[in-house]
Amino acid sequence: MNLAVVLVSPKTPGNVGAAARAMLNMGASDLRIVAPRCDYLDPQAVAMAVHAADLLRGARVYATLREALADRDLSVGTSARIRADLPAPRHPGQLRPLVRGAAAPALVFGPEETGLINSDLEQCQVTVRIPTGDYASLNLAQAVLLVCYEFLQGVDEVPEHTRKTATREEMEATYGHLREVMHLIGYTDAVRARHTLRLWRSLLDRAQMSSGESRLFRGLLRQVQWKVGSVGVTPVSGPDFGSELDPVQEEDGPANH
Ligand code: SAH
Repeated sequence: MNLAVVLVSPKTPGNVGAAARAMLNMGASDLRIVAPRCDYLDPQAVAMAVHAADLLRGARVYATLREALADRDLSVGTSARIRADLPAPRHPGQLRPLVRGAAAPALVFGPEETGLINSDLEQCQVTVRIPTGDYASLNLAQAVLLVCYEFLQGVDEVPEHTRKTATREEMEATYGHLREVMHLIGYTDAVRARHTLRLWRSLLDRAQMSSGESRLFRGLLRQVQWKVGSVGVTPVSGPDFGSELDPVQEEDGPANH
């Protein structure tokens, strides 16, 4: 399975090495590190990786989570805590069908002390929480081991790649576009925008749009921008509009010129 493990700002080299080992144990190989706070090739990391030293050396480093997720079609966040203002985390087993069905899923893990911040979790369509006793915070590498175990066990027995979903890059661009239009038409304001967009992200992420469908949706947004006179807007008949998904065109819209 083409599963990526993303570590956001890890601090301890030993944890990164142990996470690499856990990945190799479970059959994952794509390690991505966002804004590391340590030298992830420190001798301590290599020692903890043991036979996974090559996997560790092959890790790719990104400046932002958004870049690390750009080519993925599903991002699963992890959290030790339940956050009052975000959708409740799910049990890893509940998400297995979703992860198995994705072509390019990513699992996102947070920094040792704080975990993922809300703006990271907002970039994940779903969040998992490993059930624990009262002390909920697992060691980073142990969390990687358990979550990978849930998704990678018996991977050969179950068919995967059942659908072709838009990448996170396409969806983030769609959400940025949606935010612009919401402001343009006064649907939301600076104070409520974040909450409003979270609700729309949750709704639209559930749809698991294809690339063509995300272009279809953005075509509608562009038409709104054009209609209310936003400057510099290319009308819906623009070159990147999915021709296989032509919308019903308006009588006097720019698409008919
Ligand atoms: N104190 C932080 C925990 C950080 S532990 C907090 O309360 O969120 C470092 C990372 O390990 C977390 O960001 C998460 O990715 C993972 N992790 C730790 N415990 C977990 C759990 N019970 N379920 C899911 N992930 C967990």
